[in-house]
Amino acid sequence: MTSEQPMIALHGVTRRYDDGPPALDDVSLTVSAGECVAVLGPSGSGKSTLLNLVAGLDRPDSGTVTVAGTRLETLGEAAAARFRRAHVGLVFQFFNLLDDLTVLDNVLLPAHLAGAARRPAREHAARLLDSLGIARHADAYPGRLSGGERQRVAVARALINRPALLLADEPTGALDTVAGQDVRHLITNLHATGQTIVLVTHDLRLAADCATRTIGMRDGRVSAVSPAGSPAASAMPGSAGVTV
Ligand code: ADP
Repeated sequence: MTSEQPMIALHGVTRRYDDGPPALDDVSLTVSAGECVAVLGPSGSGKSTLLNLVAGLDRPDSGTVTVAGTRLETLGEAAAARFRRAHVGLVFQFFNLLDDLTVLDNVLLPAHLAGAARRPAREHAARLLDSLGIARHADAYPGRLSGGERQRVAVARALINRPALLLADEPTGALDTVAGQDVRHLITNLHATGQTIVLVTHDLRLAADCATRTIGMRDGRVSAVSPAGSPAASAMPGSAGVTV
């Protein structure tokens, strides 16, 4: 990827499940390196489908999905998995940690899968745990941690392979008010360090705090785009196939 290329470029992307209406309908958008983009919209509007395509977890029926210079729709499953391990960190609403691995081993797992050398990976994991304020839990099992702490572990795991892109699906959705605030700060700070982030969220405060841009989705289409501080969900009438 050259510095002029966007981190993410979707062109005319349509994804249809079964015989229903398209979950994504001719969506085009770009995200530049260093942006934090919040994707907002009602349930069923296509937000997770969009995130899955950008993560290389799914493929469009038509259109192109380019992330970090790679055309994802051309990759087979194994190549897509390799791409994800190298370039994408994923954070989920319910953390998706492995309960029978310690915190440290959860964080190290993507590094092992990517074939990273053991010692530098452990050193990097220790630094991440430290910077995220959870170093004291390195040998604990996730079940002993609070929701906010588990999400911090999940963020450390997402960052272990130094991804160009961090994707988060409702990262504060399962957290209480205090832990939600904590994770909002964490994501905002990550963005301040230059991390490119795309998050799907219903958390308007997260969007307002972190996002340089919000994208509203409705019925599989981009319905609105706003700069930071003015969530798109309530802005601008819908238009299909907008290039953002
Ligand atoms: P959101 O994340 O905004 O809630 P989704 O992307 O999950 O929306 O879903 C968009 C549409 O696609 C919805 O109508 C949903 O029911 C449908 N959909 C999502 N995943 C599947 C699937 N695996 N099989 C069939 N339909 C699906």
